[in-house]
Amino acid sequence: MLAELLLKWPLIRQIIEGSDGTGREAMSERTRALRPKNEGAATARSICPYCGVGCGQLISHRDGKIISIEGDPESPISRGHLCPKGAASYELVTHPGRATKVKYRAPFSRRWVDMTLERATELVARRIWESRARTFNEPAMHTTGIAHLGGATLDIEENYLIKKLFTAGLGMVCLSNQARI
Ligand code: SF4
Repeated sequence: MLAELLLKWPLIRQIIEGSDGTGREAMSERTRALRPKNEGAATARSICPYCGVGCGQLISHRDGKIISIEGDPESPISRGHLCPKGAASYELVTHPGRATKVKYRAPFSRRWVDMTLERATELVARRIWESRARTFNEPAMHTTGIAHLGGATLDIEENYLIKKLFTAGLGMVCLSNQARI
């Protein structure tokens, strides 16, 4: 009983094990019982979707839910590292503060209102089409009246489709994407 009690004291464990007090001997029972959050989870190997660096990611998942997204130490590109944006990939889809509704502020209004995705898509499509009709330069087969600036949440596939639709389809020439916006 006394021995058991004494063995709970890190100093005694340190003396018995001849260690320097920075290893397991310094841990409480609770700390020793802690398990990694992704223990026993399946892992999928992926690539960060955001920029051309292409850092490797390990996606741990269990029961159809993502548990964590971390840097892949075996990636020859990034060797386990992710920049702040790539490291926040998990929060991008799981954070409770994530905006999930379209916000609209009408011209000259000071108020933002919620709008359904269908209504917003229809509004944007109509305005793009009207602007294109008004500004399309027939001889040059392009319009400089509409521009597009992509941001951080667009992945490679989305950017490919945007480029294809806007340039080849609508004749827009002012297109850019900045992964860190
Ligand atoms: S956004 Fe960051 S983590 Fe993702 S590929 Fe680019 S540098 Fe790597």
